[in-house]
Amino acid sequence: MNWSPEAMSMIEAAPPAVRPMIRRKVESIAAERGLAAISSEFVTALMADRHGEKAQGGSETGTELDLAPYFAREDGDPLTSAFEATNDVHVFADGQTLTSGQAANAWAETERAEPTAGRPRSLYIHIPFCRSRCVFCPFYANRWSDEAGGEYARALVREIEQLAETPLGQAPLDAVYFGGGTPSDLAPEDLSAVLAAIHDNLILADDAEVTLEGRISGHEPDLTRSALDGGVNRFSVGVQSFNTDLRRSLGRKASRKDALAFLNRLADTQAAVVIDLIFGLPGQSMETWQEDLRCLDEQTSIHGVDLYRLKAVPGSVMEEMMAGGRLPCRADLAESAALFAAGVEAMQSFGWERLSIPHWRRDVRKRSRYNSLVKSGADCIPIGCGAGGRIGRVRFFQTGDLGTYLAAVQEGRKPVASAIQLAEHCHTVDRIAAELERGHLAATGWAEAGGPLAAPLDAVLAQWARAGLLSQAHGGYDLTVAGQFWSVQMGSRLARLVQSMREEPNVAVR
Ligand code: SF4
Repeated sequence: MNWSPEAMSMIEAAPPAVRPMIRRKVESIAAERGLAAISSEFVTALMADRHGEKAQGGSETGTELDLAPYFAREDGDPLTSAFEATNDVHVFADGQTLTSGQAANAWAETERAEPTAGRPRSLYIHIPFCRSRCVFCPFYANRWSDEAGGEYARALVREIEQLAETPLGQAPLDAVYFGGGTPSDLAPEDLSAVLAAIHDNLILADDAEVTLEGRISGHEPDLTRSALDGGVNRFSVGVQSFNTDLRRSLGRKASRKDALAFLNRLADTQAAVVIDLIFGLPGQSMETWQEDLRCLDEQTSIHGVDLYRLKAVPGSVMEEMMAGGRLPCRADLAESAALFAAGVEAMQSFGWERLSIPHWRRDVRKRSRYNSLVKSGADCIPIGCGAGGRIGRVRFFQTGDLGTYLAAVQEGRKPVASAIQLAEHCHTVDRIAAELERGHLAATGWAEAGGPLAAPLDAVLAQWARAGLLSQAHGGYDLTVAGQFWSVQMGSRLARLVQSMREEPNVAVR
C-alpha cells in the first residue's frame, strides 16, 4: 500500500520494535475502508481515535471509574494467569504526535534552551547496520558494507560537531551508548573517529559510562583496542544463548566455544562486560536455559547479564519460520513464566546481585547507568540514523532512511523526523516505570499520590497484593516473582490509571 512521506514519518515516531506492527494495523484498517493510499490525515485520525479510548476494557462514564479492568485475577497461579498476555514491552505515558514540521521546531527550541544544571543526561548513537540478520530481531535495518560504514561514521562526526555548537551540546553527559544494529561492526578507525569527536566536542562527566553494544562475530581485537583507547568502559554483547545449535538456528555464527573465548578475552580488559541472554526461544527447553545460566556463572568471567523474554513480533522472520514449520514454536506464556522464575532462582543461587528486574551483576563494574537513566525518563540526546531520544517531555525520532539522514547532516540539519509531546503526567509514569523496574513500589512519593490518584492507586495496589503480585515491604510494596514477570503489564495499567485520573480528577471510584 502507498504511504505519503508525511504518514511514513509519523510511523517513524514509534519505537522501532513496534513500527512493523503499527504499520500493518494501519494498512489493515485502510484496506477495510477501501483506501488505496495512506495519508497523514488518515494516520492522525486513527491516533486521535486511539487517544480517545479509555482504559482497556474500562467503563468510566465521566462520573464513575470502574477499577475492575486494572485488577489482576485472584483465582489462579499469579505467575501464569494474573493478566491476559499482551505485547506491551515498555511503560509509556500517552502523548501527542507532532508533524515533521512541529518536530523540527521542537528540536530547534530544545537545542537552543539552556539545559537544566545537574539534570542527568545521556547520548545515544545509533549504528543502523548489521553484517547479517538474526531471525528474532525487529531492529535489522541495513546490510553492512565497509564503504557505507565509513561514510556513516563521517556523518556521525559531523552531527556530533553540530550538536556541540548548541547549548544542549555543552551540558555534561553521564552516559554514552552505541546501540544498533551492530556497533561492533564499525571499522576500528571509524569507531575511533566517532569516539574522538565525542571527547573533542562534548563534555563527559568524570565517571561517565561509555557502552559499545555488539555481537561476537566480527568483533576483532583491533576493534576492542580502538574502543578502549577511545574511552569505552563497558561492552554489551548480545549472546542470547550459549547453545551452539540454538545460536545457529537464530542466525548467530559463533559457537559456544567461540562465544566463551571471546567473552573471557573481553573480560580481561578493564571494561565492564555484560551480555544478554534470552528465554523463550524456539527450541529452547528448561534444560537448555538452565545450562545457559550455569555456563554463564561457571565458565565466563563477565560482570553482568540481562535476562530478557523473547518478544513476539508479528510478521518477523522468526514468526514466519515458525508458521512454516522451519523453526519450533517459541515458549508460550506459561512456559515463559516458568523460564523466568527458573532464571531468578538460578541467579539468586549463584549469588549475583540484582540491579533491577532483568539486570544482574557479580562485579561492581556493571553499573547499567544508561539503562537506568533512560528508564527513569532522564534526557537522552539522539545521534544517528534511526536514533530515538528524549529531552524533557518530548520524545524525538530521527529519520530511519539512510539517504535522508546523510543528506540532512550534510546540509547541517538535525535529522529529526517526528516527535511525541508527552502528556503532563509523564513524570509520574516515569517514576512508576523506574520503581517497577527496580522491583519496589514506594508509591507514596508519586506526584499525584496525595491527590485524586491516592484512592484508586491504593485500591489497585492492595488488589495486586491479594492477587500475589506484590508483598508489603519497607513502607511500600516489593514485586513478587509473579509481579516481576508481569511488571510491564502492571506499569501499563498504572500509566492508564494516572491518565484517567488526570482527565477526570473528580470521578468517583467503584
Ligand atoms: S545483530 Fe543485533 S540488530 Fe542486527 S539483526 Fe542481529 S540482533 Fe538485530
